[in-house]
Amino acid sequence: MKASKMLIPTLKETPQDAKIASHILLIRSGMVKAEVAGVYNFLPFGLRVVNKIEKVVREEMNKSGAIEILCSALQPKELWVESGRWEKYGPELMRLKDRHDREFCLGPTHEEVFTSIARELIKSSKNLPLNIYQIQTKYRDEFRPRFGLMRSREFIMKDAYTFDKDEEGLNASYDIMYDTYSKIFTRLNLHFQPVLADTGNIGGNGSHQFMALSDVGESEIVYCDECGYAADVEKATTKLDGYKGKKEDKIIKVHTPNHGTIEELEEFLKMNPKDMTKTLIYHDFVNEKYVIAIIRADRELNLIKLVNEIGSNENYLRLATDDELLNLGFVKGYSSPIGHDKEYEVYVDFEVAEMDSFLTGANEKDYHLLNVKYKRDFDGKVCDLKNACKGDLCPICGKPLNQERGIEVGQIFKLGTKYSAAMNCNYVDSDGKNKPMVMGCYGIGITRVMQSIVEQYHDEFGIKWPVNVAPYEVVVVPVKIKDETQYNLANEIYEELEKEGIEVIFDDRDASCGFKFKDWELIGIPYMIISGKNASENIVELKNRMTLEKIEISKDELIKKLVKDIKDAR
Ligand code: ATP
Ligand code: MG
Repeated sequence: MKASKMLIPTLKETPQDAKIASHILLIRSGMVKAEVAGVYNFLPFGLRVVNKIEKVVREEMNKSGAIEILCSALQPKELWVESGRWEKYGPELMRLKDRHDREFCLGPTHEEVFTSIARELIKSSKNLPLNIYQIQTKYRDEFRPRFGLMRSREFIMKDAYTFDKDEEGLNASYDIMYDTYSKIFTRLNLHFQPVLADTGNIGGNGSHQFMALSDVGESEIVYCDECGYAADVEKATTKLDGYKGKKEDKIIKVHTPNHGTIEELEEFLKMNPKDMTKTLIYHDFVNEKYVIAIIRADRELNLIKLVNEIGSNENYLRLATDDELLNLGFVKGYSSPIGHDKEYEVYVDFEVAEMDSFLTGANEKDYHLLNVKYKRDFDGKVCDLKNACKGDLCPICGKPLNQERGIEVGQIFKLGTKYSAAMNCNYVDSDGKNKPMVMGCYGIGITRVMQSIVEQYHDEFGIKWPVNVAPYEVVVVPVKIKDETQYNLANEIYEELEKEGIEVIFDDRDASCGFKFKDWELIGIPYMIISGKNASENIVELKNRMTLEKIEISKDELIKKLVKDIKDAR
């Protein structure tokens, strides 16, 4: 490809709304162009990267025995009513009507559609197990689309669904996908960690997320160096640290005027937040009720864990407003479950339940209670409500956990019969009985993977694409296009590499070589060949974008070396 014939819309300026390096670089290097927030167009280089990521995903999925299909993004409401998700999915579902007022959504995921396909196409146990997948565009009306392709409203996903006769079959299918995902992310050069995950909106009873490790990741993971335990903080459990607080004693009411926050109390009472608790009152819109949660004050409440305890939905659970608190008989900053545990469900974090005594509000403005004790002073359901964090003890081996941030690039779920039972997706077993198929589902965010690679592979000059996902593998730049010797040598190299099947660009643009070098460094082409002052001796410079190594090399050696290195890296 000749650069003069190509669209190379690189930018010097940092786009205003881009906050993280990978987002800035994808825009500046002309890979993608934003249309509105969370909606992107893929330009020539960006599209080539997407295609290469998809190629790796396809190859590994096909090797695992999965079969590719392609479904529509447009899905009829009726399927979602059958599964019960039309109501439950919440505001993220993009809903629309056709001219006859029939309702549809733009698929955020395809469990319903694939279940509908399987129930119509598979009748006998002889067709099972089956793994079908697609690479297709998804739509989610994200509350806060941000970080470019990381959290967009339209994105490309690989989604696969397995259908098995029984749990044992599902476990085997799940393990194959777990291995396949590990192979895919390894081939895509990501530094990643699989972690135990919550099953969220999708439902089911077992899940792993694949996290690309990165400081800009929106997910927090904890892991144990000792035994290998790793989990999303939404899911992670910990061994109790045995903290008991002060010995049991009689309740004392203390005057704490205008000291409603933990920081203020810490200062005012000279007390460790570990000895205090936070009482949080939530409005559950799914079950239309209020619930009380109590955790240690040095902890953060994990909404997902609470949602799972209550049987609610994270999109439909909010902290009660100040007005609601007043109506319910609580005082903001001074709440406690004491006296309310008959009226409302109370969820008590394990750590609080274990303590000999702690501080709560007094349900009265400007007063707190010292020496409160669970069971003696109020009742409630004991459960795990807190976010795990660095230093907490591993639930398996008891060693302190480490913490890191990650970008969720894939997730796999054991769905069981959640969808097949609701949607009558049955097969006839060898005993002649109708049984629901046992399902799994498996997603990879193709476009999120693309940006995660940039996040892990860049420097101050631009992107450093690994060879097997780079838009092109090599660029050849004659320093002076008007210098015939330099131009001709560059052109010969270009033509020979093309003949060898290498993806190569010839930069024949009439621009300064400094400008061109900057462009290719920004775009991140793995190898740059510079035909300059030694061209008359058939010698060029070869620059490796990843290692920044520069060597002088003769044309013949160069071709041999590049063809081998690139074919090895593909
Ligand atoms: P998240 O927790 O980040 O919102 P999710 O758990 O809702 O993601 P899944 O339903 O598991 O996502 O979707 C499968 C994969 O699709 C995710 O692992 C992720 O890589 C990708 N993905 C999900 N939402 C988005 C988005 N808004 N933009 C880009 N990729 C996404
Ligand atoms: Mg997920």
